Amino acid sequence: MTTVMSVPLVDLRAQYDSLRDQIRAAVLDVFEHMHLNLGPNVRAFEQEFAAYCGAAECVGVGSGTDALHVALRALDVGPGDEVVLPAHTFIATAEAVALCGARPVIVDVEPARRSIDPAEVAEAVTPRTRAVIAVHIHGQLADMDALRRACERAGVPLVEDAAQAQGAGRPDRRAGSLGRIACFSFYYSKNLGAYGEAGAITTNDPHLAERVRQIRDHGSSRRYRHDELGMNARLDELQAAVLRVKLPHLERWNERRRELADRYRALLSGTPLELPAELDRAGHVYHHFAPLAPERDRLLAYLQEHGVGAGIHYPVPVHLQPVFADLGYREGSLPVAERVAAETVSLPLYPELTDEQQEYVAERVRAFYREA
Ligand SMILES: *Cc1c(COP(=O)(O)O)cnc(C)c1O
Repeated sequence: MTTVMSVPLVDLRAQYDSLRDQIRAAVLDVFEHMHLNLGPNVRAFEQEFAAYCGAAECVGVGSGTDALHVALRALDVGPGDEVVLPAHTFIATAEAVALCGARPVIVDVEPARRSIDPAEVAEAVTPRTRAVIAVHIHGQLADMDALRRACERAGVPLVEDAAQAQGAGRPDRRAGSLGRIACFSFYYSKNLGAYGEAGAITTNDPHLAERVRQIRDHGSSRRYRHDELGMNARLDELQAAVLRVKLPHLERWNERRRELADRYRALLSGTPLELPAELDRAGHVYHHFAPLAPERDRLLAYLQEHGVGAGIHYPVPVHLQPVFADLGYREGSLPVAERVAAETVSLPLYPELTDEQQEYVAERVRAFYREA
C-alpha cells in the first residue's frame, strides 16, 4: 500500500512562504505612502517588466482580460470587424474580441505546439480581419515567424496573448516583444502571479502605448478631459508592489519548471500518455505540463482520489462554448482542438513542487494505467 500524499495543482502558500518578509514590507509600504492611483510601484513595475520582456513600453492594467480588451480597442477593433484566434485557449481571448463588438473567428491549432495554426490563419483572413491573436498556450511560444509572415501578407497586426508565457522565448526575443502588441495576465496562478487581479500590455510602439494608457484610464490623457470612450482598467498599486518583489525570481522559477518538465518526461516515458512536444526547451516556461491521456476522465478521478490535484486546461474548446453558439461552429469543425479538449490533463507543476511529490504523481499515473 502506498500512502496517500496531497499534491495540489498549484501551491500558492509555498511561494508566499519563501518571500513572506519582502512581500509584507512592500505591501505595508504602500499603506504608508498611500499613493494608490497609478502610484510609484505601478510606474516602476511597468519599466521593470518592459525591460524584462525586451519591449519599449509596458502599461499595467487590471487583468489579462483587460489587457486583451484594451489592446484590441487601441488597435481600433470594433463592430463589423473580425479577429482570428485559436480554439484551444482560455475563454478570455475570445471574450475580449466580443466585448469590442467584433466577431471572433475561431480556427484550429497545430498538433505540435497546440497553438494557432499559421495555415489556418492565412485561410481565415478576410477584408474585415482587424487582428490575429496568437496564444502562447501552456507557456510555449506560438509559431511566431510563420504567423508574422501570414499577418504581414494580410496587412493585419499580430497580437500576443502571453497570459501563460511570462519569460517564454529567448532573452533577446521574449514573449511580449514578438508581435505588434502583447497581453499578460498576473492572475495568481500564472508563472508571475499577483495576489488578486492584475495584467499588463507591452509594445514597441510608443504611439500605441499612449493610446493604451488613455483607454485604460477613462479615455483620458489629462485630468478630467476625456478624448475617447475608455474604461477603468488600471493596475492596482498593491498588486504592482507584489509583482515587483516577485519579478526578480521569475527566471529561476521558470528554470525549475523546465527541470520538472524534463523529470516528468523521464518519469512518464513508456506510459500511454502523449507527452507535450517541446520544440524549444530553453524557451518553454511550462505554465502547464499537459499530456494527452487515453481515458482522461477516469485518470483524473483516480488522481484526485489519490490526493493529486490534476486539472484540465480546457475541457471545452472556445468554438463549442454556449456563449458563442451563434457563431455557428459545430462539433467536428476544429478537430485538433476538440481532441485536445477531450484528452488533455494538467499535472501538478509549480516551482516549489518537490522531487518527492513529483515522483508520487508519476507513480500514481503509472499505477492507473497498470490497473486499467
Ligand atoms: C489567464 C488567461 C487570460 C485572462 O487573464 P485574467 O487575468 O484572468 O483576466 C487570458 N488568456 C489566457 C490564455 C489565459 O491563460
